[in-house]
Amino acid sequence: MGWLSDSPQLLILKDCLARRLLSCHVYPELRNLPESAQGEELELADFSAFLAQEVWPTLPPSFREASFETRSALPDDLDSVPLDSTPVSFVDTLVSYGITADAEGAQTLLRKVLAEYVSDACAAPPVWSSTRARECEICEREIPLTYHHLIPRATHAKALKKKWHPASMLNAVAWLCRPCHTVVHQIATNEELARSYHSVDLLLEREDIQRWGKYASKQRFGVRRG
Ligand SMILES: [Zn+2]
Ligand SMILES: [Zn+2]
Repeated sequence: MGWLSDSPQLLILKDCLARRLLSCHVYPELRNLPESAQGEELELADFSAFLAQEVWPTLPPSFREASFETRSALPDDLDSVPLDSTPVSFVDTLVSYGITADAEGAQTLLRKVLAEYVSDACAAPPVWSSTRARECEICEREIPLTYHHLIPRATHAKALKKKWHPASMLNAVAWLCRPCHTVVHQIATNEELARSYHSVDLLLEREDIQRWGKYASKQRFGVRRG
C-alpha cells in the first residue's frame, strides 16, 4: 500500500469506505473478488483502497486537504458539493459487485462516506498528554518513562511541507522507557521515523523492535539488591 501512505487524508477516506462497505449487507459478495488469495480482510482493504484511489483525484481540494486546521475551508453544506466528476470506474465497480443499484446509488454512498471522512479528518487533535501509558509501550515494563516524538521535531517543517502528516499529528508521542527509546533512535533516522514509524504499531511491526522488546521485558530495572 505504499502509494496510500503518503497522504493521511487518503488513508482516512479508505477507512471510511471500508467501514461503509462492511455495513453493506452485500459485502460477502466481495469474496468473489479475483485476487482473493489472502483472506477477506485484505480483500476489503484492497477493495476500499482501489475505490479510494479512483475517486480521490476527482474530489475538491478542500476535501483532499481536510484537517482540523483547514476545516473552515469546507462548505457548510456538504450535500451541495457537486460530485459530477465521480469516475466511471468507481460507479461501475460498486454496481458490478451489487453494492449499489446504479450511478445514483453510488453517489449516495459516496456522499455518506464523504460526510464520515470530513468528520474524521477534521476531528480535534488528541490531547497527547492524556495518552500517557503506565507501562513502556514497547517492553511493557512499569518503569520511569520518557516521551518519544513519533514524528521527531527536527523533521516537523519538512513533514508539513511534504504533507507527510497533518499538523495535528506532529506532537504525537509514545511513552517509552529510556532503553527502548534509545533503541528506537538506533534503528532509524529521524526522517525514517517520521515517514515510516510514526505510530507505536508501526514500530512494533519491525522484527528488531519485537526481538528487543521481548528481551527488555525480561530485564529487571535498576540494580538488584540483597
Ligand atoms: Zn521499554
Ligand atoms: Zn525519541
